[in-house]
Amino acid sequence: MTAHVVVAGGGIAGNAAALALRRAGIAATVVESRPADHVGGAGVRLNPNAMDALRAIGVDGAVIAASAPLVRTEVYSPAGERLSYRLAADPASPRGLPRSMLWTRLATTLRDEAVRAGARFRHDTRVVGASETQDGVVARLDDGTEVLADALVGADGVRSAVRTWIDPDAPAPQGGRTRTIYGFTPDPPVEPPPPEVLRIHLGARAFFASRRDAHSGGCSWFTNIPVPDGEGDGDPRDLLDELFGDSPAGDTVRHADRVLGFDDLALPHVPRWHTDRMVVIGDALHVAPPASEQGAAMAIEDGVVLGRCLRDLPSPAEAFAAFERLRRERVEAVVALGLGGAAKVHRRGPARLVARVRDRLATLTDWQRRPPTGGPAWAYDHHIDWMETVNR
Ligand SMILES: Cc1cc2nc3c(=O)[nH]c(=O)nc-3n(C[C@H](O)[C@H](O)[C@H](O)COP(=O)(O)OP(=O)(O)OC[C@H]3O[C@@H](n4cnc5c(N)ncnc54)[C@H](O)[C@@H]3O)c2cc1C
Repeated sequence: MTAHVVVAGGGIAGNAAALALRRAGIAATVVESRPADHVGGAGVRLNPNAMDALRAIGVDGAVIAASAPLVRTEVYSPAGERLSYRLAADPASPRGLPRSMLWTRLATTLRDEAVRAGARFRHDTRVVGASETQDGVVARLDDGTEVLADALVGADGVRSAVRTWIDPDAPAPQGGRTRTIYGFTPDPPVEPPPPEVLRIHLGARAFFASRRDAHSGGCSWFTNIPVPDGEGDGDPRDLLDELFGDSPAGDTVRHADRVLGFDDLALPHVPRWHTDRMVVIGDALHVAPPASEQGAAMAIEDGVVLGRCLRDLPSPAEAFAAFERLRRERVEAVVALGLGGAAKVHRRGPARLVARVRDRLATLTDWQRRPPTGGPAWAYDHHIDWMETVNR
């Protein structure tokens, strides 16, 4: 049986995996390259399937306490007219509402719960190599130490090194033709929408989405822009100034204390997920554009399902094979869904006009009686039964 697992990366996937491993009675050592008190990162939305996965490992309560519910998204025209709104979830769904919170608050909440459950964390050092032996794996750290375990889980994000140790020919993430620029304004000059509302203002060249952070009162905002080849490296503040000028959005941007630009990457298919002793999860394994709002959710689901597999199967190799069988179809479908959503955001020409007319008609017809909700049920209503046994 698997007794001890070393996890490279203490982000969302690694911390969720550590929690699941502890719930399964397996020792976990998480190696995270950032310091323990790291702050920053974008806001994330946790859709109902993410909350379901957190419930499976008993940490939904802690995440609910550290986040705010998202009730609806509203879209406004450049003239300030409300065009449409969408409920964040079907009110009749037993899964409840999505939650939103800052990335670091989510990672820290999961880490604190994992520590409480007995996981060991090593911050400020990274995994730089690994060798498989007959009865385990040796992870080498850049502080010169080693961790011996039965298995190594690569939760080391989009630029994963573990992915290339498993398969030197592994594909790298593609894309980068659009960018998500995220910011946080602690003391906003313009009153942001309440935490339960994500408000999107359409502009001539870009949209501006914002809401108030329930815990700090600051404004969390983002936009998404096409990036012609070779133009993605400039200071995002200059670009935002050009896009939003003297508008209320421009004022909020100028008062930001944190502005981060992320290339929108996609990793739709990784042929080799594991060896006998090493496996990758989370963004190391599949990357969906931010438009899918599912990257963190998939990372959590991966951690929970991997924990069940390692609990129920006699060897890491059998557990990893079962993990791939249970997860591949779903994660690849979610990335495809995200790629479709990203294409929609950047519709041009006639397609954009058709969408505008449709949105306009929606405001005149039935949306006030029956607003559209969330995303497809197969993605959002996914359920993980922690007690169900995984078979070979
Ligand atoms: C702008 C933006 C907005 C997003 N919005 C949403 C959203 O609304 N909803 C949603 O569900 N998802 C969202 N996502 C996606 C989500 O943030 C990611 O999918 C998720 O964080 C993936 O988690 P992860 O743990 O796999 O990777 P990461 O969060 O990247 O964590 C990887 C960790 O590994 C560490 N690390 C890397 N290499 C090593 C090493 N060799 N040794 C030790 N440690 C290492 C890193 O420091 C990092 O902490 C968004 C992403 C972006 C860029």
